[in-house]
Amino acid sequence: MSILVVGSVAYDTVETPRERRERQLGGSASFFSLAAIRFAPVRAVGVVGEDFRQEDLDLLSSRGVDIAGIVRAPGDTFHWSGRYHADMIERDTLATELGVFKDFHPILPKGWEASPYLFLANIHPALQEQVLDSVETPRLVILDTMNLWIDTTRDALASVLRKVDVLLLNDGEARMLSGKSGLAEAAASIRDMGPDRVVIKKGEHGALYFGRGSVMAVPAILLPEVIDPTGAGDTFAGGFVGHLAKAGADRDSDDAIFRRAMLSGTAMASFCPQTFSVESLTHLSDKALAERVACLEAMMTP
Ligand code: AMP
Repeated sequence: MSILVVGSVAYDTVETPRERRERQLGGSASFFSLAAIRFAPVRAVGVVGEDFRQEDLDLLSSRGVDIAGIVRAPGDTFHWSGRYHADMIERDTLATELGVFKDFHPILPKGWEASPYLFLANIHPALQEQVLDSVETPRLVILDTMNLWIDTTRDALASVLRKVDVLLLNDGEARMLSGKSGLAEAAASIRDMGPDRVVIKKGEHGALYFGRGSVMAVPAILLPEVIDPTGAGDTFAGGFVGHLAKAGADRDSDDAIFRRAMLSGTAMASFCPQTFSVESLTHLSDKALAERVACLEAMMTP
């Protein structure tokens, strides 16, 4: 069943202690789509500027992502730039240039309002809500956000959160949003804001799932080398939501299906840091993905 995603389609300038890459393909919707398409059809909604390279749009469509909802507008493509610390975990955002996202009013291509799965990828919460309100009766709505929106657009975020089923965010963001220091307390307080289920991503320490009746901790795959972790969170979301769509989950499904989806998300996310930009996602085989799920299962077996 199809997944509709709205999020950033971006150019990222990334600096690591070893290398700097300018204006490479990034954005929450790009990473998400290239991961989720392994599991289910993906319809992407977003905006790019006049500077956006046709080959980058072609890359998304060549992998099967339906890009009919990505419009080109006068102005510059959303540009994010960041610098990683020596640990390759901490990063400083150097610039967030909204460009064409400043005046973006998402319009869904005909028929897309009936999409069963809706992923509101990291972007201004008012845009997330506009798209959510345009979709008729989704089976499941999942939202991702970040510190910038928690900090600067808290009311808009609170408004959209009341309408979502699952929230994905990282540990720092969970503490910031809830005002609680412990993650169990933070998840409980976030559930009171609307989402029935909460996934807290913890980078190299894995991720936590707080469901209706259970909690699950999944470790991260141990990687020999980290080249560029940008997009790992969105890639996790692609594996997680893709799994749910393929399995036909809805908001009343058992925790079991969400717990399996945590493994797909974690396995998928592990490929992202091994290359710059979306490269590892475009060359990934089903066999390599299945091996990482098996590796996680082995790590979790007593
Ligand atoms: P992640 O590493 O999973 O947090 O995702 C990083 C990606 O999110 C990059 O490709 C950025 O282009 C994108 N991004 C960063 N900041 C924002 C923002 N404020 N709104 C939307 N997308 C963003």
